[in-house]
Amino acid sequence: MSAKYVFVTGGVVSSLGKGLAAASIGCLLESRGLRVNLMKFDPYLNVDPGTMSPFQHGEVFVTDDGAETDLDLGHYERFTHAPLSRDNNLTTGRIYEQIILKERRGDYLGKTVQVIPHVTNEIKNAMRKVSANGADVTILEIGGTVGDIESLPFLEAIRQMRQELGRENTIFVHLTLVPWISAAQELKTKPTQHSVKELLSIGIQADILLCRSDRNLSREMKQKIAAFCNVEERAVIGATTVPSIYEVPLRFAEEGLDALILKYLRIDASEADLSRWRELVDRCYHPRDEVSIAIVGKYVEYEDSYKSLKEALTHGAIAQNLKLRVHWIEAEGLESKGPEDRSYEAQLDGYDGILVPGGFGKRGIEGMLNAIRYAREKKVPYFGICLGMQTACIEYARNVCGLKEANSSEFDPATPHRVIYKLRELLGVEEMGGTMRLGAWTCILQEGTLAWRAYRGATEISERHRHRYEFNREYEALLTGAGLRISGTTPDATYVEIVELPDHPYFLGCQFHPEFKSKPLEPHPLFREFVAASYKNRVGRIASEPGAISALANTSIS
Ligand code: GLN
Repeated sequence: MSAKYVFVTGGVVSSLGKGLAAASIGCLLESRGLRVNLMKFDPYLNVDPGTMSPFQHGEVFVTDDGAETDLDLGHYERFTHAPLSRDNNLTTGRIYEQIILKERRGDYLGKTVQVIPHVTNEIKNAMRKVSANGADVTILEIGGTVGDIESLPFLEAIRQMRQELGRENTIFVHLTLVPWISAAQELKTKPTQHSVKELLSIGIQADILLCRSDRNLSREMKQKIAAFCNVEERAVIGATTVPSIYEVPLRFAEEGLDALILKYLRIDASEADLSRWRELVDRCYHPRDEVSIAIVGKYVEYEDSYKSLKEALTHGAIAQNLKLRVHWIEAEGLESKGPEDRSYEAQLDGYDGILVPGGFGKRGIEGMLNAIRYAREKKVPYFGICLGMQTACIEYARNVCGLKEANSSEFDPATPHRVIYKLRELLGVEEMGGTMRLGAWTCILQEGTLAWRAYRGATEISERHRHRYEFNREYEALLTGAGLRISGTTPDATYVEIVELPDHPYFLGCQFHPEFKSKPLEPHPLFREFVAASYKNRVGRIASEPGAISALANTSIS
């Protein structure tokens, strides 16, 4: 079979869920036994999102090979088994960087370097490279909205791909909005018509329309869109808002999307097996109870900053058949006014579990330390991720080991007790450019620990990293002597990867980001166990409240 491509573009407005749509198409094609790969093009000039603020850009997703990528790659990994690497996310900035490098090397032999053909060729080569990685179908998402100046070279590149490879090897899927106008009490198709026309003006006729709306499209509505947009009626696919993103592939399948893609691309594939997804969604919609988790972080106003984290917690909750209630707490709001001020405790009361996620910089650290102290002392399940692991170590050094000024050299370079520091800095290594520990690293687990039990007895695991600072082993004897346990390290024992507290229901911090590897059908062990412990805490707490016995009569703990 020759390489097949599905190009996904978006129109009318941004944030319609193009990434989810692309991921769901991948999921559906995989469920029919096809091998898929997914790729995203981002039209901005940053070389990668690594240096962009979480407030601007949302989470930076990290692949095994250490690429800092757009958060849509997280959706791709959660919905499919596509092998993602730095080749799967390209920005305009990176493409120009490559071209300018070649130009300086003299690779263009004195020619004038231009958007067409040089930029478009670079884009097409990148697409072909990803599809050559053993995929039957490659799904390519073009970031931005049709009509943006920035996305033009990408649209031109996919137009050329159709020209070169033909209709049976390329299809254009366009995601649009069909808004409900309350004054008219009607869904309106005009924005969709305009968006399709805009695409057409640059030479792309959409084959399939995914119509986002908050209610179902009637037959007449679909006929109207089909007629005005020049597509088959069955190619007008309703993309109605659903309570769980994991229902999206099921809805698309009901609308016949995968069957149509296969028909257009002339692919013979087996029937879709979506039984595990159906089961998952069913569990998601019929929880036996709920569990509440407080996330104490610094980018909490903007939920996209912690996208994978929220999803991983959801996976943990679905695994226990629970509804997840996440409460975002701004860490700065938990800071004490003086050494004896414990007024923050009231804000932390009543949650089943507390989590401190990753982050950079000093802001909010003291509030996080208070939250961790609360969780440790009150035996509330605690999960610290990256920064949340580092702050757990600082809290332990300060409040258990008595090193009042313990800190990370990131927050206080002059601290007398840098419990967290840059190892390379200490070794006198000159830091040049990319100084982060990024991507997959192997971790050896200590038998008999909480971490080892969570990973079901595995002694060697691999997890993804994105950080600069590390646990300082000079403080190991002091901290472990006081009770902290180191349950995971890199194989050469240079880096501490997991710490935990034995005399606590669940207190674990990891230097890596487990959220990047959690999938709805394969919940991450640490999230699964954290949610389980949090729920146990909930049941215990409610049982101890007066008059609670009858309310719990039907609750069983798994
Ligand atoms: N700021 C910390 C570091 O760079 C933690 C990073 C993170 O949480 N991702 O080490």
